[in-house]
Amino acid sequence: MVDLQTQYQRIKGDIDAGIQEVLDSAAFIKGPKVTAFQEHLEAYTGAKHVIPVGNGTDALQIALMGLGLRPGDEVITPTFTFIATAEVVALLGLTPVVVDVDWETMNMDVEAVRRAITPRTKAIVPVHLFGQCADMQALMDLAREKHIYVVEDACQAIGAQFTFANGETKQAGTIGDIGCTSFFPSKNLGCYGDGGAIFTNDDALAEHMRAIANHGCHVRYHHDEVGVNSRLDSIQAAILDAKLPHLDEYIAARQKAAAYYDEAFANCERLLIPGRQAHSTHVFHQYTLRVVGADRDTLREGLAQAGIPAMIYYPVPLHQQKAYLDPRYQDGDFPVAERLAACVLSLPMHTELDEEQLSYITSNVLQLV
Ligand SMILES: *Cc1c(COP(=O)(O)O)cnc(C)c1O
Repeated sequence: MVDLQTQYQRIKGDIDAGIQEVLDSAAFIKGPKVTAFQEHLEAYTGAKHVIPVGNGTDALQIALMGLGLRPGDEVITPTFTFIATAEVVALLGLTPVVVDVDWETMNMDVEAVRRAITPRTKAIVPVHLFGQCADMQALMDLAREKHIYVVEDACQAIGAQFTFANGETKQAGTIGDIGCTSFFPSKNLGCYGDGGAIFTNDDALAEHMRAIANHGCHVRYHHDEVGVNSRLDSIQAAILDAKLPHLDEYIAARQKAAAYYDEAFANCERLLIPGRQAHSTHVFHQYTLRVVGADRDTLREGLAQAGIPAMIYYPVPLHQQKAYLDPRYQDGDFPVAERLAACVLSLPMHTELDEEQLSYITSNVLQLV
């Protein structure tokens, strides 16, 4: 699915030197590498504040804590996503309210969000699934109208861009009140362990979230509120700082592979290629087919026999997950998400796919459907 080894070999000199610098300095926590990476990521994304944290899940949790949400407050998320999005909502004692997604883009259906808003709704967490932005124009318009916070889950979409009707272009994660991303190794900008970051343009929120991530502490050993311990370590920051200058190339390589897949599958009526969100670029964290006229499991098994991995992201929507079962929701309530869960299949997608591999993958897929 990914080839992190080849990617590493290409910039091994820079990465090894960055790690060595940290080892020599012994500034393993909150060292200058973390500050440098933070500043470079601010410049890359255009976010006024980047707060490096321990992972993407922590980023989401700290974001919701930073907004001061209280038990009973409702947070709207798509039901078709990775579990972390709803997990932090539940952990904080907030009420996850799930909505269906769009069949083409697989992202949050904004009309469904509108219908799910109640007087208790405090935040919406759109997920920019598989690497393209949700419909942020409609979503931001709705959120502003209803005075609801927006926390973007941009864990899969760093570098994706959305262009608004006024001509303004913004990066995923810098559009809502807060944005969250993950540097998990297989993410589009991945480190060699765990890492994450929070984005915001709001000075007060930034300060508040920095304190929350540091045990709720503004002044050392004075704790004004209950916080957490979540930080990006210096070695991971050094790795990320070496990789960030290559992010645009990495995105272009993924887009090139996606274009190859698109062309190969465009005329196959048993497969639907990923639909595109208008006004958003797609950075292809995943290339996800909808298998509509063939048996997905047979295809997946056939690919496995040919040595081609393929994964199901995600086989079970949130409202059908055992830990999140809720009497408000029944099977069939979110038909698009349930249909997607039954038919999606993600193909290998990374920065090192060459034509030979792509040709081998696509010809095998086409033979098997
Ligand atoms: C990866 C991911 C997360 C969590 O990130 P971690 O760094 O693994 O904690 C959250 N949401 C989505 C959509 C993700 O893909």
